[in-house]
Amino acid sequence: HLQSTKTLANGVDMPVFGLGVYKMTERDVTIEAILKALQLGYRAIDTAALYYNEEEVGEAIRHSGIPREDIFVTTKVWNSDQGYDNTLRAFETSLKKLDMAYIDLYLTHWPVADKFADTYRAIERLYDEKLIRVPGVSNHHQHHLEQLLATANTAPAVNQIEMHPYLTQESLRAFCAAQNVAITAWSPLGRGSVLADATLQAIGQRRGKSAAQVVLRWHLQHGNIVIPKSVTPARIEENAQIFDFVLTEADMQAIDALHQDKRFGQNPDNFHFDF
Ligand code: NAD
Repeated sequence: HLQSTKTLANGVDMPVFGLGVYKMTERDVTIEAILKALQLGYRAIDTAALYYNEEEVGEAIRHSGIPREDIFVTTKVWNSDQGYDNTLRAFETSLKKLDMAYIDLYLTHWPVADKFADTYRAIERLYDEKLIRVPGVSNHHQHHLEQLLATANTAPAVNQIEMHPYLTQESLRAFCAAQNVAITAWSPLGRGSVLADATLQAIGQRRGKSAAQVVLRWHLQHGNIVIPKSVTPARIEENAQIFDFVLTEADMQAIDALHQDKRFGQNPDNFHFDF
């Protein structure tokens, strides 16, 4: 069901389904979307310092009336704040904006080449100080993870990566599975761009489900955590209706075969941001 969890490497249970809030910039729209999701039973919210909506996330959670400890909150340290001391400072800022006593999952947003190892050391310190419940990373390739794993006292429990039917991440998923690093799929719907695909439409028609529901179900059956984004109430509801059907092995393979190595975001080995 909607509040199903996955036990992470350090023993913490993380909801396998949540709301992503990237590009939710309008205050009222953001708060309404999060409140709608929480009312429907969503129990995880994925934000980032970069999204400039941590205040709204905190506010919506407080307004929901749901106890803080029943909601799993993820945020991330942005690229310009990386390095050991900067990360500790950025974390303080995020905590203040969210107005919370702790964060559930804190991630390095992207592996900034000369800084991501120090950034992760700071995240480990925050974990040791019990200011975060789970240490993790995002957009880390296998070689980034290998570098961290070589020296980490606590391995990252989550790697949040771009994944959808056009980018199935087979080898990185296999590596993460072997290391007990859980995968969260970002842009799980390929930002909506994969939904017109004829294969997904046909599977949906056979199951009485939308292409979006088929794709999200495919993620779950691959063992991923998913954080689809929408501000539209009907879609927030639709995206959650994925716990009442099962894709067959043939469906799963047909969707896997859609892989075309297509990224809608940047490649972690060669990324640049103009903001
Ligand atoms: P997504 O794949 O979740 O797609 C969202 C878009 O798909 C929506 O804006 C909407 O246009 C469309 N959509 C949503 N539900 C639909 C439905 N039921 N039917 C039809 N269209 C629908 O893309 P995303 O927002 O890029 O990714 C989800 C979340 O992942 C983000 O909000 C953010 O939290 C996270 N993210 C993380 C990173 C990272 O670097 N770690 C990068 C991008 C996104």
